[in-house]
Amino acid sequence: MKTAEIKPAPGHGTLCPKCGAGQLVTRMVSKGEKAGMVFLGCNNWRPNDPNSCGNTIWPTTASSAKDDASKGRACPKCGVGSMKERLVKKGEKAGTTFFSCSNWRPNDETSCGHAEWPKLPAPEYKPRAPRPRW
Ligand SMILES: [Zn+2]
Ligand SMILES: [Zn+2]
Repeated sequence: MKTAEIKPAPGHGTLCPKCGAGQLVTRMVSKGEKAGMVFLGCNNWRPNDPNSCGNTIWPTTASSAKDDASKGRACPKCGVGSMKERLVKKGEKAGTTFFSCSNWRPNDETSCGHAEWPKLPAPEYKPRAPRPRW
């Protein structure tokens, strides 16, 4: 039986940086919206085994290169830091990515706290009817 040929992605065959035991092998997404995309997965990974190594590395593609362009922007507030992509880890916005200044440090009020939320829906603008004053 001939399996579909997958071109080895850059990094194929290298030691897994996560578990240090497995090797990174080229895999292809078989279904879903990323079907046909190639990534590196640890060969120490076993389906339905939470103890196996689930390390996956997505090689840089043309589309993510476009994202990098926006990541390297200088911070418009302090001009020193650069805007970095961050992920909200908890709270009601968990899973949302946003950009914040690399000059930001937690619990430091003198650091730059500039943040940009790329995909927030614009707040609905409700004009207030001026009340006539009699
Ligand atoms: Zn691994
Ligand atoms: Zn800044």
